[in-house]
Amino acid sequence: MEETKTEGQKLQEKLFFKAANVWEKSTEDDKKNAFEFCEEYKKFLDSSKTEREFAAEAGKLSRQHGFVSLDDIMKNKKKLIPGMKIYSVHRKKSVLLAVIGQKPVEYGVNIVGAHIDSPRLDLKQNPVYEDTEMALLKTHYYGGIKKYQWVAIPLSIHGVIVKGNGELLNIVVGEDEIDPVLTITDLLPHLAQEQMQKKMSEGITGEGLNILIGSIPYSDEKVKDKVKLNILNLLNQKYGIIEEDFQSAELEIVPAFKAKDVGFDRSMIGAYGQDDRVCAYPSLIAALSLEKVDRTSVLILTDKEEIGSMGNTGAESNMLEDFIAYLCSCSNDNYTDISLRTCLNKSRMLSADVNAGVDPNYDSVSDKKNATYMGKGIMIQKYTGSRGKAGASDANAEFIGELRLLFNSRGIIWQTGELGKVDMGGGGTIAQYVANLGVDVIDCGVPVLSMHSPFEVTNKMDIYTLYKAYKIFFES
Ligand code: MN
Ligand code: MN
Repeated sequence: MEETKTEGQKLQEKLFFKAANVWEKSTEDDKKNAFEFCEEYKKFLDSSKTEREFAAEAGKLSRQHGFVSLDDIMKNKKKLIPGMKIYSVHRKKSVLLAVIGQKPVEYGVNIVGAHIDSPRLDLKQNPVYEDTEMALLKTHYYGGIKKYQWVAIPLSIHGVIVKGNGELLNIVVGEDEIDPVLTITDLLPHLAQEQMQKKMSEGITGEGLNILIGSIPYSDEKVKDKVKLNILNLLNQKYGIIEEDFQSAELEIVPAFKAKDVGFDRSMIGAYGQDDRVCAYPSLIAALSLEKVDRTSVLILTDKEEIGSMGNTGAESNMLEDFIAYLCSCSNDNYTDISLRTCLNKSRMLSADVNAGVDPNYDSVSDKKNATYMGKGIMIQKYTGSRGKAGASDANAEFIGELRLLFNSRGIIWQTGELGKVDMGGGGTIAQYVANLGVDVIDCGVPVLSMHSPFEVTNKMDIYTLYKAYKIFFES
């Protein structure tokens, strides 16, 4: 029998803000859909570990879903009309998609923007050397990593080499079951007394992140560096490359393991690179599934977020502005710069990025009243930055009000997000660069545990809710 609620209990329900657990609020169908969605997500994580792989895959899926390349539209001087779907893969590292709305582009567009680069180790430009009759590769880490997490785990290598004759070579080694993997060794505890006394930031150094790649010497008494020679010979036979080719290469080292369900209840996913593929993938799938939209929808997937978004493939570039300018000019015969400015100032964006979930092992870093919890739905983060909101992208209350109304009316469970206690640290996303264009922007993603580690953990119900939220936003 249901107990009758007291006046105080009723009042509390009415007045208090409380984030709900999405699992508790979901039907069996919702749960089934979430699990199914995440099976595809895991496959995508395994096949798209780098920004280039993600961009290529997104381009392929776009074509399959009837998106036409922007180059085609420009070349054939086609006019954009409502319902048209356009994509552009920018320098093989960033992606832009648009579904043209019923309203003219000048009315503003709905943007979702995520990043598709993740923390990793990059090979240096002259990486190969031999020491102690073993061959190794020198690396330079990319993004904010805890270096000690990258030793003694299986690693794979992904990327491109531009050969002396200009030919582009794609390389992936370490992902196929029959592939060898690479690894960085760690010191045995027996001899680690000195190392263990060091600060965690110094126990493993940047110059110590050298990758073990071989140990068989080339059989010739007269040469030095026989193991290095043997490895370069193997690479030459397989790929036709010489040592100088590494100078014009981008080779990325990432964990070799696959995405896995985490927990006896399989409610979570553990995988490399979920910052920010956990937002990039749902936003891509949401954009691909759009049919008729009122306002034009734009998806931007950028590179270089983990090192500050600069460069011609990062969010600080003109890429998004240029893309929207093309949309305006291809749909309006009387295009002027004012068309673009008007559009940008009327546009809104969800900056799709992750936040730190409250971790029971490290809960002292979070303000529990304002932190993001696993399984409690999508995260809406009003501001980023650090210290006195320095470097913050701070969303306007009016825009948050619109989103509250939208998400509440559509049953999207959301929670608030702040990256750690005040003065504990902080960080930023691509939000600020788009806000500079006049767009209303807010960060909106999901919580992650072990962020920036080789095995980041997310919650399946949050991911599925995020997909639904991005779709609803695009359609609003
Ligand atoms: Mn991120
Ligand atoms: Mn990050």
